[in-house]
Amino acid sequence: MIKPSKITISSDGAFNVPDYPIIPFIEGDGIGPDVWRVTRRVIDAVVERTYMGRRKISWLEVLAGEKAYRETGEWLPSATLDTIKEHVIAIKGPMTTPVGGGIRSLNVAIRQRLNLYACVRPVRYIDPVPSPMKSPEKVDMVVFRENMEDVYAGIEWEPQSREVKRVISFLKDEMGVSVPEDAGIGIKPISEKNSKQLVAAAISYAIDNHLGSVTLMHKGNIMKYTEAAFRKWGYEVAREKFADKTLTETELFESFNGKQPEGKVVIKDRIADVMFQLVLLRPDEFHVIATPNLNGDYLSDALAAQVGGLGMAPGANLGHDCAVFEATHGTAPKYAGLDKVNPSSLILSGAMMLEHMGWKEASSAVWDALRRTVKSGFVTYDLARQITGAKEVRCSEFGERIIENIG
Ligand code: NAD
Repeated sequence: MIKPSKITISSDGAFNVPDYPIIPFIEGDGIGPDVWRVTRRVIDAVVERTYMGRRKISWLEVLAGEKAYRETGEWLPSATLDTIKEHVIAIKGPMTTPVGGGIRSLNVAIRQRLNLYACVRPVRYIDPVPSPMKSPEKVDMVVFRENMEDVYAGIEWEPQSREVKRVISFLKDEMGVSVPEDAGIGIKPISEKNSKQLVAAAISYAIDNHLGSVTLMHKGNIMKYTEAAFRKWGYEVAREKFADKTLTETELFESFNGKQPEGKVVIKDRIADVMFQLVLLRPDEFHVIATPNLNGDYLSDALAAQVGGLGMAPGANLGHDCAVFEATHGTAPKYAGLDKVNPSSLILSGAMMLEHMGWKEASSAVWDALRRTVKSGFVTYDLARQITGAKEVRCSEFGERIIENIG
């Protein structure tokens, strides 16, 4: 019997994944336990069948959210963060945002305290999930959203507070800028370091997965020193780190007559508002999108809707030292414990996790089995009510059917 051990990272940043890795999980609140139970069964079955017992995940529960609060009096115990760091990769269900718990959002706290600088959301169509698009199969993109700064940095002051009055008088007296006396104020920091590491991760992903382009989505025409700076740093990091593997859209047309050379990723940029039109009108022109936090938040949900909603969309938060994979929907408290909801978001996040570990065959097997199950028409209530002729099954039964459909 092989003893399970930890995943480690070498000094060059490479992952060392043992055949029996220990992976921490947070089951989450509300519907979290329902979807986690099914996800765990599906991932275990896929790994078992793909590697014939040669590989196996040893799951380690860590506490966060309501369960942590009940058992330890803390919403996010530091032992949880330490264990995730120590084991490099973790997966989590959705968590309640505590009201008045001293934490603005557990998810934001996890991202910031583990330095998870990129939120990654693949958006892919699974036939025949109902979609508002005419050709939803053309939607196949991965959004890399900056995760640590922008207006999400949490630097803001309440209207009429002592603090906001000081900021307003500083702006007036020291900077010569006038702000209405009754305004609330938030600060939008966008740094060179964070922008470059995010765009570099997006370009590496495009290169590794042979994808055609990385689009920098920004609102730089209006916000010159934040969003336009993001765009500038994006092009800079492409030149500095990936000169031999990338070219700009201008170079593509000036030097290659618009014909993309083999093995090169095109770096382009689009203004955020135009981008929302383009992903609807010409989705097949986009492969990887790198963008600051707020744009990315809006765009990821809008794209998820293009392929059938958040119940299906997986997500990951990546850092240099660790990665946390997560369901993108919330805790849907009214469905908690009913064994009713769609577990696809967390299952597909599990598939992303397997890919990140280098277990690519197992990752593809999850996507394939889930696609076959949805195609067979046995789906959870959210899809059943929209697909003609589909039969509603419970969350756990949907999972069993995915397991039956593993190739
Ligand atoms: P929600 O995503 O929990 O639920 C909204 C509605 O979407 C549900 O009523 C349900 O109809 C549907 N839904 C959600 N997940 C589904 C699934 N897997 N299958 C089928 N239908 C599904 O959003 P909310 O009601 O705004 O938030 C509830 C709680 O979740 C809040 O405390 C919020 O802060 C938290 N939240 C957590 C995360 C996270 O942990 N990543 C994300 C969003 C919201």
